[in-house]
Amino acid sequence: MRWPFAAFFVFLFLAPQSAIAGSGELMRHVRAIVAPETQGRLAGTKGANRAADYIESQMKAIGLEPAGDDGFEIETELVNAVEFDTSLTIGTHVAAPDVEFGVSGFSDDVDVEGVPVFVGYGLSDSAWDDYQGADVRGRIVIAMTGCPEGQEERLSSKHLLSSQSKAAVALSKGAKAMILVNDPRAHGDSDTQRADELPRTVPAFPLEGIGVVRLTAKAFATGFAADLAKLQTEVDGGKWQHLAVKTKVALEIDVDRDDVDTASIAGMVRGSSDKPPIVFGAHFDGLGEAAIPGYQGADDNASGVAVMLAVARRVANQKGRLKRTVIFVALTGEELGYVGARRAARFIDETYGRGVFINLDMAGRLDDDGLRAFGLESWTANKAATSAASGSGMALDAHPLYASGSDHIAFAEAGFGSIGFSTGIHPGYHSADDRIEKLNWKQMAKIEVFLGRLIRDLAD
Ligand SMILES: [Zn+2]
Repeated sequence: MRWPFAAFFVFLFLAPQSAIAGSGELMRHVRAIVAPETQGRLAGTKGANRAADYIESQMKAIGLEPAGDDGFEIETELVNAVEFDTSLTIGTHVAAPDVEFGVSGFSDDVDVEGVPVFVGYGLSDSAWDDYQGADVRGRIVIAMTGCPEGQEERLSSKHLLSSQSKAAVALSKGAKAMILVNDPRAHGDSDTQRADELPRTVPAFPLEGIGVVRLTAKAFATGFAADLAKLQTEVDGGKWQHLAVKTKVALEIDVDRDDVDTASIAGMVRGSSDKPPIVFGAHFDGLGEAAIPGYQGADDNASGVAVMLAVARRVANQKGRLKRTVIFVALTGEELGYVGARRAARFIDETYGRGVFINLDMAGRLDDDGLRAFGLESWTANKAATSAASGSGMALDAHPLYASGSDHIAFAEAGFGSIGFSTGIHPGYHSADDRIEKLNWKQMAKIEVFLGRLIRDLAD
C-alpha cells in the first residue's frame, strides 16, 4: 500500500498542533483543581470548596445552564471525619486497633459481650442463606467478607457482598455487633485485597443500631484458635453448621463524627425533546493533604473533571441543536462512599428523569490495555459506545460494572443505565505519587474526543 502523501503531511503539520491546543485546556483545568490552595480536596473542606468554585466558574464561562437545586449546586450533606475509641477482646487476646482490627466508618456505638455466632459469609438471599436456623438476636455475629465459591453469579445483586449490606442484614436479624473477618482466599472486597490488610476507614453516616469491625484473618486465628481457611472450605461446600464458638468476645465502640454541608456542581445544555437526560459525571473530591502529605489526586480525579469540562465546552457549542439534554456533574464525596453521586442521582431522577449515566474516574494514565469500560457489555448504549470508540481510535477494555468502585455504581443502583470509564489503578493511586507531572495529556485529549463524540451521538 502507498502512503496517501497529502493526508500524511496534513497529519504531520496539524495533528501535533491541535493536540497541543487540546492539552492546553486540559492542563489549565488540572492545574487549577490540584492547586496548593485546594489542599487535596477532602470533601467538605475549604480546599474542596475552592475547587468547586473553579468548576462552577468554568461551567458558567462555557455557557452551561445551572442544573442544581441551588444554582449549579446539588447540596449534599456528608460525614467527612470519624474517630473511634474502641477495644476488642477475643478470649484472653486483646486485639490491637488499626493492626488486627479496624472499626467500619458506618459503625454505630456499641458495648457488648458474649459468645458470638459464626454466620459464614453473612449473606441472606434466596440463592444462599447463612442465617438459616440461627438466632442472632442481641448477639455478636462473625462473618467472612466475600462470597462462597461459585455463588457470585447466583446472588440477586453483587451489592450484597459489601460490608454495609452484610451489616444491614445482621442488623435486620437482630444482631448487636458484627465482626467481619477477611476472607482467607482474599477475594473479599477486591481482587487485590490481602487477607491481613485492613481497608481504609471511609467516614459515613451510621448504620444505626449495630457496631461493626473488620478483623484480619491472622487475628481471627490467634483469638479463636480456629483454622479459618478450613472453615471456609466447609462453608463453601455447604457442609457446615453454625459454628459453636466457645470463645467469649467483648467489643466496645465509641464513635465521634463530623458532619458537613457540601455540594456537587451541575450544569447542562438543554435538548429540544423531553427524553431523559444524558448525565456525564466525574468526582472532584480527593483524600486530602492532611491524610496524605504531598497528595494532589491529579489522576484521581482532577484528570476526569478536566476532560468533562472540555467535553462540556464542545457540547455547549452544539446548543440549540441537541435533542436530549446533557447534564455535566462534578461529584462530591466519591471517596466517602459515593455520597455525592447517591444524592445527585436522586435529584436528577426527580427533576430531569432517569437517563443514561457516564462516569469518568481517572483519565490520565492510559496504558496499552485501553480505556477500562466498567459495565460496557450490559450498558443500554453499548452500541453507541463501541462505534464512538472505533470512530475515534479509542481501544476499550470491557469489565463488569462492579469490577471497579466509583460513582457509576451509585447511579446504577438508582436505576440509571450506567457505565464507568477509567484509565485504571496504578502504583501511585491514592498516594503522594498521584501528581500532575505523571499525566499523559495526549491520551487525555483522545479520551476527550471519544467521550465528546459519544455524548453528541447519544444526544442527537
Ligand atoms: Zn476516583
